[in-house]
Amino acid sequence: MNEFDYSIFWDETIKQLREEKEISDQEYNMYFQNTRYIESTRDKIILSIPSRFIQSQLKQRYISLIENRLLEISGIELTLDFEIENRSRDQDTQNPVSDVTDEPVPEVKQNFEPHPQLREDYTFENFVVGNNNSFAANASKAIAENPGSKYNPCLIYGGVGLGKTHLMQSIGNAIHKSNPEMKIVYIPAETFINDFIESINTKKQTHFKNKYRTADILLIDDIHDLQDKKGTQEELFHTFNALYDANKQMVFTCDRPPSELKNFADRLKNRFVRGLNVDLHPPNYETRYAILRKKLEDRNVIISDDILELISENINTNIRDLEAALTSIVAYAELVQKEITPEIAKQQLKQFFSSPIQTNITIDKIQKQVAEYFNVTLSDLKGKKRTKQITFPRQIAMYIIREITDFSTTEIGLEFGGRDHTTVMHSCQRIEDRIKTDSTIEPTLQELIRSIKET
Ligand code: ADP
Ligand code: MG
Repeated sequence: MNEFDYSIFWDETIKQLREEKEISDQEYNMYFQNTRYIESTRDKIILSIPSRFIQSQLKQRYISLIENRLLEISGIELTLDFEIENRSRDQDTQNPVSDVTDEPVPEVKQNFEPHPQLREDYTFENFVVGNNNSFAANASKAIAENPGSKYNPCLIYGGVGLGKTHLMQSIGNAIHKSNPEMKIVYIPAETFINDFIESINTKKQTHFKNKYRTADILLIDDIHDLQDKKGTQEELFHTFNALYDANKQMVFTCDRPPSELKNFADRLKNRFVRGLNVDLHPPNYETRYAILRKKLEDRNVIISDDILELISENINTNIRDLEAALTSIVAYAELVQKEITPEIAKQQLKQFFSSPIQTNITIDKIQKQVAEYFNVTLSDLKGKKRTKQITFPRQIAMYIIREITDFSTTEIGLEFGGRDHTTVMHSCQRIEDRIKTDSTIEPTLQELIRSIKET
């Protein structure tokens, strides 16, 4: 048994500080309500606290206030020490079977209300990790475990349908679960813009500011939508600074690396890249297959492995397309109430397989954009010249056409002065080789593809 028990000093200290409004009711509810006295040693009071977040808040804001008061009341120099309450938050990280024979722990269904702005199924458990996204996934988990510390801000970027929103909301959901007291604000950038404009029109700017600047966790999705929006960028800049100074976690997503944002205030761009930047890539075959399996888990239908393989093999653009294909098969299976054969599946998936990735993109359009980008003439690009200044753009153009359209190498060759399809294949191969050795090629390609799709 421990001979020291300073619990009355602790109680008295908190009581006094509350009476004197040194700790407001709101603060009390936020930081002290679930903080409990556990025990004391000679010169320490040990408290149980609900999370590391609370610990850092207590340390930053209240520790000296409390220790001084403890000294006044008890005449002893007491310090505070914290133990994080051992809650079931690791349950879902698939701990190997542990303590199953112990008495059932009453499930503390404490206050688990779903977060109003977050999709409940966007969780880490539902997020399949492959080599295309493992860095981003691990960083996101680290943030969820320890918000506002190491990786702040975090910027997740990558093309459409690769899981940015899912990952961002997983961070939100995980924190919401382990730290229900934290104020988590999730907002698509577009809504942020609209809210901001509305707040000006209705003269409720203060309300707007408070909503964002009091967040513990701010998640803004698709910040590329802020391009050209000067006023909103300015507002976000100030919000950013306020939250950053207060060590509040911020996460942003973007469909491109920040360096490629256009009409975007440099100072805001600089802030996005200040913390951790992680990118998402398209999944490889194995990951696509694993994702399909995962997505089938909750569905009450049987889809055979060959069909999953068929989908995984043929749909390699992004996960949204992959899911759409699966959904269409599942819907069909449910409708006809019978097992789907690969033949039926192929028929059903025709639209997904055969539709060009971007239907309105013509060879001509790509050639023009590439020529303009490299400042060569269109006729040179398509013509016979074999100088280096021309062959590289030409190879790039062929490569992009093959990547983002459905034209065959024969068709592509015809549009380049009647070249043979093997020439086209060879050109594409040259670019693929260069991608491996020259890290500047990929960003150039991405930038070109994006501008082709945008115009
Ligand atoms: P983005 O925001 O990048 O456009 P989303 O987060 O909306 O993409 O993802 C598109 C769909 O793909 C969502 O339904 C999401 O659940 C799913 N998805 C993406 N990545 C994964 C993954 N690694 N595991 C499981 N589902 C995923
Ligand atoms: Mg998204």
